[in-house]
Parts: sequence; C-alpha cells; structure tokens
Amino acid sequence: MASPLREPPALSVVVPVYNEEESLPILHPELVAALERGGEEFEILYVDDGSTDGSARILRALAGSDPRVRRVALRRNFGQTAALAAGFDHARGETVVTMDADLQNDPADIPALLARIRGGYDIASGWRRRRRDRLLTRRLPSALANRILRRMTGVPIHDSGCTLKAYRATLLRRLPLYAELHRFLPALGAFAGARVTEVEVGHRPRRFGRSKYGITRTFRVILDLMTVKMLVQFAARPLHWFGVFAFPVLLLSFAFFLLALLRGGEELAFGTVVYPAISVLLFLTSMDLLLLGLLAELAVRAGHRPGSALVEGLQAQVG
Ligand code: UDP
Ligand code: MG
Repeated sequence: MASPLREPPALSVVVPVYNEEESLPILHPELVAALERGGEEFEILYVDDGSTDGSARILRALAGSDPRVRRVALRRNFGQTAALAAGFDHARGETVVTMDADLQNDPADIPALLARIRGGYDIASGWRRRRRDRLLTRRLPSALANRILRRMTGVPIHDSGCTLKAYRATLLRRLPLYAELHRFLPALGAFAGARVTEVEVGHRPRRFGRSKYGITRTFRVILDLMTVKMLVQFAARPLHWFGVFAFPVLLLSFAFFLLALLRGGEELAFGTVVYPAISVLLFLTSMDLLLLGLLAELAVRAGHRPGSALVEGLQAQVG
C-alpha cells in the first residue's frame, strides 16, 4: 500500500489480473521502466480479480516493495470490467491508463497515449493493428463487432476491445461501468462530448497461460452493444421512442374516424360500428403508448440505477 502522505500521482495505471503468475514478474519491471522513462509521477494499481494461482502473493510482494504499487483485491472472480471499475475507484491520478497483465499490451506504447491526453483528448484508445490472436475465434468476430459498433455509434474506433487506453480521470468518473461495458467507454465518452482519439499500439502473442475468453464473448459483447444503444438512446428520452409508435397509431385512428364519417350513410355496420370502434381502439392505444412514455421519463429521472447514471453522465458536460 502507498503511504498516505504521498501526493496523488499524475498518472494511475490500472492492470486487471486474473491468474497471471508467470506474466507478472516480467510485466512489472517492463511497466515501471516505461513509466519512469515518461518522467511523470505514477502509481500502478494491480487489481487481483480473484486469482487462484500465485498472483496474489506476487502482487503483495510488489506492493510491499514499492510505494508506487497498490494492490486491489476482489473477493472472487468478477470479470475484467469489474476489475477495471474497482481500479478506477481507487485510482488517484488525473490520467488513468488501463492495460492487460498478460504481456500482450506493450508498456512502451503508454507515452504515445499520454501525449494525446496532454494534447487535449479525453480518451486515447489503443488500436492493435497487427493483432496477435486467433483469427477465427478472436480477430474476425472482433472485426465484425467493431464494425457494428462503428455503425451504431458513429464513433470511428477500430479496436474497442483493446484494453490499452488512456483516459482523463474526470471523464472516467462520469461513465458507468458494468457487464462488458469497458470496451464501449470510447463510444460512451464520445456521446458525452469527450474528445476521443485512436493510437496504433503493438500487440504480442500471449506467452503464458491462456486467454480467459473465447468465441462466446463476441455474442455477449454484441448483446452489451444493444444495451448501450438502448441506454444511450432509449433511456435518455423514452418518450421519444414511445412517441415514434404512438403517432402512427394516432394517425390511423383519425383515418378510421374519417372513414366512419364518409361512409356513415352506406353499409350500416361499417359506418356506425366497425370504423368508429377501430378508431376509438387505436386512439386509446396511442394514448396508452404516450402515457407509458411519460411514465418511463419519470422512472428514468427518479431512479439512480446504472442506466440513469449513464444518462446523467451523458448529459453532463465533459470538463
Ligand atoms: N482478466 C481479469 N478477469 C477475468 C478475465 C481476465 O482480470 O475474469 C484479465 C487478465 O488477467 C488479463 C486481461 O484481463 O490481464 C485480459 O484477459 P485475457 O488476456 O484473457 O483476454 P484477451 O487478451 O484474450 O482478450
Ligand atoms: Mg490477452
């Protein structure tokens, strides 16, 4: 643990760790060397995401021997996003860098990311242009998911899944984080008005252990993408969504009302019963939809659950 008397450092590096005992002894000196070259005061937060191998012991030793190293331990394995969120909660720097512990990200890329933040960007996102992972189960699905994400959000990030990113901490504190959402932070940030940029970074094959993920993650990421879309657009203005359905129904209702008037004299049943009935039914349906939309607006504003926090985050100006 860092001594409480130290000034908060300018930079916090957050590293999620889940069973990386072979990688850590190599990663740590490499990371420290890269950060020391940068010349800024820094802290490294290793978030132990419930490791069951020797990682906890190694991290304790690292934290004990260097006051710039802090270890955050989760009680069990919560997943990479939760680990990152825990790290963000404890990070004190004005800039926060995230990276993987498995040596796939190269600490030597950190200065380039920091330069962008100093240059005025709020998020600098790594782009593993030459990614060293399996083609079929990782690179192709990831390329597809990124394409969908770019389409849906309009935020031109090629590699949202790259953990190596740098954030302005004031922005980070405004964005909610759960499920697999950490990969959408650039998009969410951009919605909130953040200035987002992309930096090409190196990528190395995994040397030890194996990836904790496979093809199923792609599906979960796509589902999360829909959540994000919903949160951003629906939760921000639910009435608009309900309105989109309500107005055509209302128009149809008027159409049937007119029909009822026009054909009033002719066939008895249509002019006096069927058309008016349909018209009334459609009218009530559209009113129901509008009322539901209004209720949803109230619910969104009253609640302080992650969805509404997101809305607040999005409405807040990024300083
Ligand atoms: N990780 C974690 N919790 C998990 C799974 C992974 O903290 O439940 C960490 C892992 O130790 C590594 C990073 O997240 O530092 C990325 O994991 P991995 O290398 O397995 O993912 P990939 O690089 O294959 O996407
Ligand atoms: Mg990896």
